[in-house]
Amino acid sequence: MSKKNILIAGAGPVGSLLGIYLARAGHQVKIFERRPDMRRHEIPAGRSINLACSDRGFRAMADAGIADQVREVAIPMYGRVMHSVAGELTMQPYGKSDQAIYAISRSGINEELINGADAFDNVSLSFDERCVHVDLDKPSATFKNLHTGAETTIEADVLIGADGAFSAVRSKMMLRDRFNYSQHYLPHGYKELFIPGNPDGSYKIEKEALHIWPRGDQMLIALPNLDGSFTCTLFMPFKGKEASFEALDSQEAARAFFQEVYPDALDLMPTFDDDFANKPTSSLVTIRCSPWVHEDKVALIGDASHAIVPFYGQGMNSGLEDCRIFAESLAEGGDDWHQILQIYQNNRIANANAIAELALRNFIEMRDSVGNPAFLQKKQLEKKLASMFPERFVPTYSMVTFSHTPYAEALRLGDEQEVMLKQMMEKPGLFDDLDTPQTEAYLSETFATWEQRNR
Ligand SMILES: Cc1cc2nc3c(=O)[nH]c(=O)nc-3n(C[C@H](O)[C@H](O)[C@H](O)COP(=O)(O)OP(=O)(O)OC[C@H]3O[C@@H](n4cnc5c(N)ncnc54)[C@H](O)[C@@H]3O)c2cc1C
Repeated sequence: MSKKNILIAGAGPVGSLLGIYLARAGHQVKIFERRPDMRRHEIPAGRSINLACSDRGFRAMADAGIADQVREVAIPMYGRVMHSVAGELTMQPYGKSDQAIYAISRSGINEELINGADAFDNVSLSFDERCVHVDLDKPSATFKNLHTGAETTIEADVLIGADGAFSAVRSKMMLRDRFNYSQHYLPHGYKELFIPGNPDGSYKIEKEALHIWPRGDQMLIALPNLDGSFTCTLFMPFKGKEASFEALDSQEAARAFFQEVYPDALDLMPTFDDDFANKPTSSLVTIRCSPWVHEDKVALIGDASHAIVPFYGQGMNSGLEDCRIFAESLAEGGDDWHQILQIYQNNRIANANAIAELALRNFIEMRDSVGNPAFLQKKQLEKKLASMFPERFVPTYSMVTFSHTPYAEALRLGDEQEVMLKQMMEKPGLFDDLDTPQTEAYLSETFATWEQRNR
């Protein structure tokens, strides 16, 4: 295979991991990043400081040889703990007893990935360099140094835009004929709040769980950090007379609202007033586009090609999976980069659109359904079916989070399963006792009929 000069814009998790894969394949890789080198500077505020990494992300990192370092600094979350207004707690496991999603610091994982890329002689990393111009046909990109203002144009055989949701590389592709693009903002924004650890470093609430305060049109979540603290995120409409960021326009209003709606969380937040007033309120966007590639010269990857809302915890995971599939496409396409890029985008676009849809749906599930009795019954039934047919019935959440089933297939199968679950739940008395021989026979029969239709 001939070695190429590959230029990557963006050293986020995705650009860095792709750099590792390309370097391992022997290519010369240059990565240019707008921000300072985060290994030497504090990360800028404004984006969530921790996130959930799951099987797809770990597999992609394992294939590139760096999953172990990342797992060492991650906290397993085996389920979600729901907090009612009255302060009652309910735990719902995410999957089987050994299955977990992992809370990890955003900068921590990014640094590991940057270090991983930096370890290769055939990778060079440049920071404080913002991509300001792109020539798709050469291809080349021009970067402006944020200290000196100097502009440098780098030519390459292949240019990869891994420069996030507001990608400069994608902006240039958008000017081309027949480029499809949509961006959709939720009416909700988010703000980060903080629960510190105890003085001895222990946790004030259950450590190995993702905490959710579901409240209908809004919710609060909390993910653990290694030092005993939790980073919380409040998701709430921007506009509206009562429960909205617009309405909570003073310290008193915000505190009174939390006292009423999230009293147990407020008790754990000594810096609430400052945090609410000073942390930014950020927006949530879904971006879909196609094509993701231009001839044999340019490709988009990660958030640059598919930004999704965070409610399935899959944005970064799907971007890391993009890298794994990109590497498979490299192996399959040989020296033909037109072919390589086509294989990559043919594999990914439908899957990216599917996880975008699943993530939007999961917002409703998290903020609304997780506390409602019919939803809890459905979870109980899913658990029963998963125990009766361990290899054959996999709940949608598990397919997305704990498997490598393509997202589009998980979406399709999940929708089919939903129809079956609904049918089962309509049977009078089903939940009186799911373990009776008669009920098990009914579940077996209905499941077998469903399976015949759908496999
Ligand atoms: C509130 C919130 C919570 C989230 N939680 C999760 C979660 O739990 N699990 C999960 O998997 N995902 C989560 N995500 C999504 C995740 O953050 C993103 O999907 C992931 O960061 C995408 O990685 P990336 O490398 O593609 O893009 P980014 O992380 O955005 O990195 C892009 C890089 O490109 C650089 N860049 C941008 N423009 C330029 C330019 N012009 N020139 C040079 N460099 C440039 C940026 O500085 C950045 O370093 C969450 C997102 C949000 C907003």
